[in-house]
Amino acid sequence: IPLLRAEGLVKTHYGEGAPAHAVRGVDLSVRHGEFVAVTGPSGAGKSTLLHLLGGLQRPDSGSIRLDGECTDSYSEARWATERRRRIGIVFQFFNLVSNLTVADNVELPALLAGTGTRQARAEREKLLAELGLEGKARSMPGELSGGEQQRVALARALVNHPRLLLADEPAGSLDSKGTREVMRLLSRFHQRGQTILLVTHDARLASAADRVVSFFDGRIADDAELGGAPARG
Ligand code: ADP
Ligand code: ADP
Repeated sequence: IPLLRAEGLVKTHYGEGAPAHAVRGVDLSVRHGEFVAVTGPSGAGKSTLLHLLGGLQRPDSGSIRLDGECTDSYSEARWATERRRRIGIVFQFFNLVSNLTVADNVELPALLAGTGTRQARAEREKLLAELGLEGKARSMPGELSGGEQQRVALARALVNHPRLLLADEPAGSLDSKGTREVMRLLSRFHQRGQTILLVTHDARLASAADRVVSFFDGRIADDAELGGAPARG
């Protein structure tokens, strides 16, 4: 069974103006260990799709299975638990807690998930070292460069060993050096078996994945394994 299976997802945003039909009927499966990039122009609905897959927004219709388990009746609290344990997320603007140190930002999800303080600290130290942030544990997020902040966000997203990592334009606010760095790290975690779904408007970044889903106007326009073979559900 796939790690993630979405069927018939639909989401319309109702705001000030005309309704935005962001996701218009999407079927998508992600297998364990895959690195999938969802790419397409701004406004295509990629970010909405990622929000649906991570339970940050609810679909109007359609369903999502995680490891074969239907999530349709999950409460907000249950989704919050899943995001702590099974789904890590990194965002374009990092979303770190600005008044907590780097160490506390990374440790917090582990503590909230019930990990003991010693183990949470050990996990945090391991990740900070791995991400080249050992000297930054006591810094505040605002003292770091964008690239460093995104590495902290990555550490936070991975601290509970989630089965799925969702990345929403993770390089979208970084310079070219930060972009290369975050993409190198995603590839490295993928090589170690991390399942990743990356959303990006940048086709060059999408080529780091082993499967590229082209998203256009709320729908999947193409789904291809890099190398040319068609992807299978
Ligand atoms: P992408 O990530 O591909 O840029 P989005 O999912 O952010 O696409 O947006 C898809 C469409 O939905 C756009 O027209 C956008 O303006 C609209 N949209 C996204 N989020 C909201 C929201 N919370 N309220 C109203 N419209 C939204
Ligand atoms: P991202 O694509 O990185 O999520 P956005 O600027 O598209 O960043 O969205 C930031 C927030 O604003 C999201 O919660 C999104 O749902 C919301 N949003 C996006 N487009 C609109 C819109 N047209 N009207 C209202 N809210 C929107």
